[in-house]
Amino acid sequence: MEKIDMNRVILIKYGELTTKKDNRKVFINALYNNISNKLKGLDYHIEKDLSRMYIEFNEKDLEKILDKINHVFGIHAYTVAYKVNSDIKDIEELILDVLPKIEIETFKVETKRSDKLFPIESTEFSKRIGSLILKNKHNIKVDVHHPKTVFHIEIRKDYTYIYFEEYMGIGGYPVGTQGKGLLMLSGGIDSPVAGYLSMKRGINIDCVYFEAIPHTSIEARNKVIELAKKLLTYGNNINLYVVPFTEIQEAIYKNCDKEYVITIMRRMMYRIMEKLVHKYNAHVIINGESIGQVASQTLTSMEVINSVTNLPVIRPVACLDKLEIISIAEKIDTYNISILPYEDCCTVFVPRHPVINPKLDKCIIEEEKFDYNMMIDNIINNIMTIKILDKQDDYDGLL
Ligand code: ATP
Ligand code: MG
Repeated sequence: MEKIDMNRVILIKYGELTTKKDNRKVFINALYNNISNKLKGLDYHIEKDLSRMYIEFNEKDLEKILDKINHVFGIHAYTVAYKVNSDIKDIEELILDVLPKIEIETFKVETKRSDKLFPIESTEFSKRIGSLILKNKHNIKVDVHHPKTVFHIEIRKDYTYIYFEEYMGIGGYPVGTQGKGLLMLSGGIDSPVAGYLSMKRGINIDCVYFEAIPHTSIEARNKVIELAKKLLTYGNNINLYVVPFTEIQEAIYKNCDKEYVITIMRRMMYRIMEKLVHKYNAHVIINGESIGQVASQTLTSMEVINSVTNLPVIRPVACLDKLEIISIAEKIDTYNISILPYEDCCTVFVPRHPVINPKLDKCIIEEEKFDYNMMIDNIINNIMTIKILDKQDDYDGLL
């Protein structure tokens, strides 16, 4: 290991999780573990207290570390700060050191003194540092209302942190703090976004992909793997469960009223999801359904389809417009994968006129035409698990 840069440190601010008074420690520990996991293999040292995390780093890894931090939920904001002893002389020396390195037109100094033992009160100290800066740099002005540069000085018990710019983190709760959900991940645009948004609420996800080989291709599966990889950049481990759905789908198509095949297919998916949620110790089903988007996502369709399970079904994009969903997909870098043209099991079997207002009685009559319970048991015993790995190399060439 090369020497870690002791002079600078990344300060992490928690934001929303600090409002969870009772759970605060649990949340902070989870965030600490998640950050540590993400930074594996990089040269850094991390410490935490109840209001901040402090990451010392080797300069050569700074960019990589910041990129990882931009993918960790639970971080409200962060900054790269200079660190000195909480000693007046040391602070002033550091200010003089950095002055030649930065451009200033207008500025102000903002001091926060969380260590009340520090001998000078905050406003007084800001004034003192302000005049030090004015004395040592020419052609600059104080502007307390709209300064171009702010000298933030955070005085804590042992150390003081000085920084100029603060960046927004991606917010939310640390992944894992809300337990596990199973995401129905198709190759489409909506479901990866649903996965991202549910992870943002702290849900640990595993993914389920319904596959209908030979009607769908290995390329379609690889596309789903690729999407799960993108989600993994925001989470911990992800298992992708591949459900062999061909037999049941063919049986639906052969036995049931064509108008109802999609409704019944989705009822079967939900039945299988319920069993998988129990099998893998999850609590909820998550999917990319969006109200009104297609025939199976009208409110009446949702009612009839959802009635096969009592589990909560989380639909993070239910109320978003397609354009809003697309803009999130672009931000999380899944859009370009999602639009690759491979068939999904739903699109292969789409009837010309799917029912828009399905009736529950009719579904039950249609479903009695074949022994789906046996098929579902058989499917559950033949799930394939793919562990999604974090290494880019394992992944290249899959598409
Ligand atoms: P997306 O909604 O992700 O863009 P899509 O439009 O192909 O994909 P829909 O037919 O709208 O999918 O299905 C709604 C939701 O059902 C999806 O968002 C996804 O959560 C789930 N789903 C559909 N097909 C599959 C599949 N083959 N495997 C897993 N989940 C699926
Ligand atoms: Mg959709």
